[in-house]
Amino acid sequence: MPEGDSVRRLSDRLQPLTGRIVEHSDFRVPRLATASLTGTTVRRVWPHGKHLLWLCDDMVLHTHLRMEGTWRIHAVGTRWSLPAHTARVVIRVSGGVELVGHNLGLVELFPQAEVSRRTGHLGPDPLAGDWLITGRWLPTGRDEAVRRVGADPHRSIGEALLDQRLLAGVGNEYRAEVCFLAGVHPAEPVGAVDAAAIVDLAARALLANLDSPVRTFTGDHRPGNTCFVFGRAGRPCRRCGARIETGRLGGADSVADPAAAQERLIWWCPVCQPGDVR
Ligand SMILES: [Zn+2]
Repeated sequence: MPEGDSVRRLSDRLQPLTGRIVEHSDFRVPRLATASLTGTTVRRVWPHGKHLLWLCDDMVLHTHLRMEGTWRIHAVGTRWSLPAHTARVVIRVSGGVELVGHNLGLVELFPQAEVSRRTGHLGPDPLAGDWLITGRWLPTGRDEAVRRVGADPHRSIGEALLDQRLLAGVGNEYRAEVCFLAGVHPAEPVGAVDAAAIVDLAARALLANLDSPVRTFTGDHRPGNTCFVFGRAGRPCRRCGARIETGRLGGADSVADPAAAQERLIWWCPVCQPGDVR
């Protein structure tokens, strides 16, 4: 699942595109069928949590990968690595580079002046420059995230961690693993846990994985060994041997949106993460 670390890495890979001219753009989403960035210059590409933004002259392309989304970079004229029918955005820039956004969960185009209105709801991003350092009179991103996560003591820590308005970049895999590392059950109310310590753990994990070839929480990079609890229902806990359990957070009713349904899934070790299972 793409989470904040994946989007930041993607953004890093796209940095060489700044300054290049968009020679052709093709939006394959109905709402943007007639939109065009052709002739603009890529001014900036940056991530905010799980969102990726491009500034092309004074227009902003805003995309979200959701569950399956990915951007692929090709030399113009070479075969795409994924089926063409999954392409949502195609951008060809000077220098013979073609970028194809496949299966994107969100594609928006809006004037630069609307950036804060469109993305201002997002919480601080642990991978952004203002996480620990900021202007003199402003709280750091970290302090603001701790304040936001702690604001509703009755909400479960699992729901708070996934709420992108509080902290941007944490997805389901990080939530599961951070709760394990903190020794708390994801259904525990925020007021019963050390929210600051959990925010710090999430930030450290995101940061550590930026330089890692594959995302890992155990320090082991081998496939099948990277997680303590995520996706490991019924398997033995790596610490205590108890059977990892799985369930849903926020009710068991069916959810039409597969991404929302997936986000309700939680995993935990009943011994390492004792707590109230609602
Ligand atoms: Zn355990």
